Amino acid sequence: MVEKQTGGGKQQKQIKVQGETLGADHHEAWQRVLEKLRQEYSDATFDSWIKPLQLVRAEQSTLLIAAPTRFMSDWVRTHYLGRMAEYWREETGDTVTADLIVDLDLAGSHRRGKSINGQAATDREEDTESQIGTPAAEAFAGPLDPRFTFESFVVGNSNELAHAAARRVAGNETVQFNPLFLYGGVGLGKTHLMHAMAWQIKQATPDRRVLYVSAETFMNQFIRALRFKDTMSFKEQFRSVDVLMIDDVQFLTGKDATQEEFFHTFNALVDHNRQLVISADRSPSDLEGIEERIKSRLGWGLVADIHPTDYELRFGILQSKLDQMDNVDVPGEVLEFLARRITSNVRELEGALNRVAAYADLTGRQVTLDMTQEILQDLIRANDRRLSITEIQRHVAEYFNVRLAELLSARRAVSIARPRQVAMYLSKQLTSASLPQIGRKFGGRDHTTVIHAVRRIEELREIDSVLDEDVENLRRILEG
Ligand code: ADP
Ligand code: MG
Repeated sequence: MVEKQTGGGKQQKQIKVQGETLGADHHEAWQRVLEKLRQEYSDATFDSWIKPLQLVRAEQSTLLIAAPTRFMSDWVRTHYLGRMAEYWREETGDTVTADLIVDLDLAGSHRRGKSINGQAATDREEDTESQIGTPAAEAFAGPLDPRFTFESFVVGNSNELAHAAARRVAGNETVQFNPLFLYGGVGLGKTHLMHAMAWQIKQATPDRRVLYVSAETFMNQFIRALRFKDTMSFKEQFRSVDVLMIDDVQFLTGKDATQEEFFHTFNALVDHNRQLVISADRSPSDLEGIEERIKSRLGWGLVADIHPTDYELRFGILQSKLDQMDNVDVPGEVLEFLARRITSNVRELEGALNRVAAYADLTGRQVTLDMTQEILQDLIRANDRRLSITEIQRHVAEYFNVRLAELLSARRAVSIARPRQVAMYLSKQLTSASLPQIGRKFGGRDHTTVIHAVRRIEELREIDSVLDEDVENLRRILEG
């Protein structure tokens, strides 16, 4: 039976193509088109989406191709059909309009083909059944970044728990915490850890099926399936994996049907004792626009947060990045400078180091602190902006246990004046504000008062180890 698909797949019109024959030259041209497609796309893509297709009819102006399911036909239409027509023209000289039909019989031959060539041998029995005529779940998978491995992940205080949990899950075939929920701000290594887990599992146990997708992909695929009334195969694909990783679930917000499906998929996998790994930029309870029952379920397993990096971790990451680069000599003081000043996230930190290295490479100059400050002006300013003088004042007041109003007052008692000087000193060190700007923020003082404060603290740090330590502690707190 062959159905002709029209009007976005809603109306189905039967057309008869049985008994049509395809010329040998067309058959050969089609094989060459397939060969080109195979070269262009990954094996997984080719096997899932293109291989099951069949050329039904070829005329000078039209190319009719059959797909085994509606779901597939739609995916192929939006992703590969244009390419097919292009290659067809290259091979035959005919400019054609390519179109797809759904041929349910193909599903049968696809299945038979699978068992004959033995591909199904690695699949579980139930999977083989459910995958008839539908693409493998892997076709949805986001690509894994080869650089994101456990080896390249630097562990520090802020990510220790998340790292340990990820290692545990990746290193065990039995379900550990379900789900493992990783959360933290942008650029702090969530995706890196998930890819690292996927790599390790794939390497240690190649027959386990690991699926990594972004919540966005999950959502788009589901909406597509809904539209083409093919939710069955969608469900089966996600439910037949051993380890499902969904990245950035904060994006699931608000789409009711998708949330519902996510919840069912989630429950089905947990019930079948499959491992789930979820990431988000905030904790389950802080997710907005997500149903309560889902939030609560997300928190059932282990919730591991990744905190903002501290100086030591940033320095360690820079060193490790540098080790992986060839022929770049970056002095320690530059690494130190970067680790102190680029505090927002690891992605920016890496970007900064890359920029400095690229600049040195292109100009043939040695990397110096001056050069680094010059190249990274904009980035440093952006990072500084995040630490305001007010914030410094607040922390210093808290640290020395004085009230903020006192810190900004004219009182000269040492117990107040010293913290005030420390706050001025730190404002000079940690922000790009000018001396007069700093003076104004401290109750409208003159810039010479600020200079005096900075000098005084510099002197005291040399001789007063307690104060020196206080300043260092504060710096650490403020730099996160
Ligand atoms: P997120 O998904 O949390 O936004 P990513 O995992 O994409 O962040 O990390 C951003 C960049 O920082 C990546 O290049 C990643 O390799 C790097 N990175 C983050 N944390 C670490 C770490 N602890 N060690 C090494 N690289 C890291
Ligand atoms: Mg990410």
